[in-house]
Amino acid sequence: MGIEKPALRVALADNTVGAAEIAAVNEVLTSGWLSAGPVTRTFEEEFAEAMGVTDAVAVSSGTAALHLAMLALNLGPGDEVIVPSLSFVASAAMVALCGGTPVFADVLSAEEPTIAPAEVRRLLGPRTRAVVVMHYGGYPARTAEIADLARAHGAAVVEDAAHAPLVRSPEGTLGTIGDFGCFSFHATKNLTTGEGGMVLARRPEQLDLIRLKHSHHVTRTTWERAHTGGSDYDVNGIGLNYRPTEISSAIGRTQLARLAEDRAVRRRLVHRYRDLLRSVPEIGIPFARHVADSAFHLMAILLPAGLPRDAVVSRLRDEGVQTSVHYRPTHLFSAYREGPDPAERRLPVTERMAGRLLTLPLHARMTEDDVTHVVTVLTAAVRPAGRAETT
Ligand SMILES: *Cc1c(COP(=O)(O)O)cnc(C)c1O
Repeated sequence: MGIEKPALRVALADNTVGAAEIAAVNEVLTSGWLSAGPVTRTFEEEFAEAMGVTDAVAVSSGTAALHLAMLALNLGPGDEVIVPSLSFVASAAMVALCGGTPVFADVLSAEEPTIAPAEVRRLLGPRTRAVVVMHYGGYPARTAEIADLARAHGAAVVEDAAHAPLVRSPEGTLGTIGDFGCFSFHATKNLTTGEGGMVLARRPEQLDLIRLKHSHHVTRTTWERAHTGGSDYDVNGIGLNYRPTEISSAIGRTQLARLAEDRAVRRRLVHRYRDLLRSVPEIGIPFARHVADSAFHLMAILLPAGLPRDAVVSRLRDEGVQTSVHYRPTHLFSAYREGPDPAERRLPVTERMAGRLLTLPLHARMTEDDVTHVVTVLTAAVRPAGRAETT
């Protein structure tokens, strides 16, 4: 059995790992030190500097980053955390894993599918400990407004910035506006280490706590013990092993250095999509009017209401175009559905748009011809037979 990727004309996502990453990995393997050490520390310092903050903790996944933020908040039974339903399940899952209750919030609109401040206002209560904002597709959520609401209630803001490394917004760099910034370096993300993540915290003592918790609260790391001769250490709390490897951190440093270049490609491709899709007005484009910085992580569209998504997906697949859906609403998954009666659903914007969402291919190895191919096939798939040629 080989390990080739599936044969597709245009894959949904791809990474830009190449010769530089291979050389960096070789260097780590040759050094003989594979677990977290100086390369990981340098990656943290470089990431923090690029983000304009003093420090960061590299971790083994975006999920680990979110879990550590919840642990730093000492979240437990009876505590509520407001989370957008239209997101990856990780944030709600980490709340639940800590014994807390995820309280699902609706998004603003199909044009701006990030958590709605009005929903946060509606859902904030005496048990609310935090609000999670997710920067969908790399576009800024309304973080400052939500942070004002949350802070008035003594609640923290956790930014799920898995899609949005190094995005400047008028409110600040995404991931540094709230109390915690959580990033993912999964293989499909903008900046990848295969699996990995990073955590930022506004308060230095919370980042210190996260650093301890990500490595079993041991007071001296394996690297420090190996390089100072002493083998003594204390354990001053309960933690986990969420450390990345030197191998992944070496990839991360290289990916960080090329992020701006990759982003320029993504930006150009998104503008190409928007230009071509302008002649298919029945398709909606979230964030179409967003002109400021974005990570351009996802090219999400809204299919015309009533059009069966599965048929469009299979038509695209037949033409070698891979698609996905970001996201199936979390509050409708069986593990999170509150009542047995689906009539209880109460997130109208999310529910109305969710069945129409489709994510088109977008990655820094794509060409403008690939975009043209995707839009051509998509146009034929959404229009009744014969009309595509005549319009
Ligand atoms: C990928 C992702 C995560 C989780 O990151 P992992 O590194 O896969 O654990 C969390 N939230 C969002 C929005 C994501 O896209």
